[in-house]
Amino acid sequence: MIPSEVQPVTAYIALGANLGDARGTVRQAVQDLGTLPQTRLVRSSSLYRTAPIDSSGPDYINAVAEVATGLSPQALLSELQRLEHAAGRERPYRNAPRTLDLDILLYDDIMLDSTTLTIPHPRMAERAFVLLPLAEIAPHLPCAQKLAAVHGQAIERLLED
Ligand code: ATP
Ligand code: CA
Ligand code: CA
Repeated sequence: MIPSEVQPVTAYIALGANLGDARGTVRQAVQDLGTLPQTRLVRSSSLYRTAPIDSSGPDYINAVAEVATGLSPQALLSELQRLEHAAGRERPYRNAPRTLDLDILLYDDIMLDSTTLTIPHPRMAERAFVLLPLAEIAPHLPCAQKLAAVHGQAIERLLED
């Protein structure tokens, strides 16, 4: 629930998983975003499948969700990390296979660069698995219109089952 005095902002969250029941985990995580404090799920993309790029293990399942939130960027990150932890996320090494990864892509139109949080997400523009689902739900965003730069990356949009 969003208390009426809080003015929510629009944020976009990237979801990814490639361990365990990755489809089920990503679907559940999309729903879980709507249960965060002061946060409402506005819309979410289809699921997409991509081969690991700078990573290893099974194919990734990815999606992007739009939320309206009264949380600060840092508070939102903490809540996302709590969901990752609840899904069994471990970080044995950089780009390791993961049960769930939740990144803040955009938060309103802010630009932020701290030791724990950089917004917009610094690597989003080079990733088809971010740009395609983002363009599906937010085609008006300038960054979603940079798809040409990632057209060589193999990615498959999954049909609902
Ligand atoms: P990448 O950031 O390249 O997608 P990753 O998602 O695998 O890599 P993680 O191990 O999940 O990286 O996160 C490392 C740290 O990145 C987190 O502890 C967090 O503090 C920081 N971070 C910085 N900017 C963001 C952001 N926009 N969204 C989520 N985490 C961020
Ligand atoms: Ca990530
Ligand atoms: Ca992450």
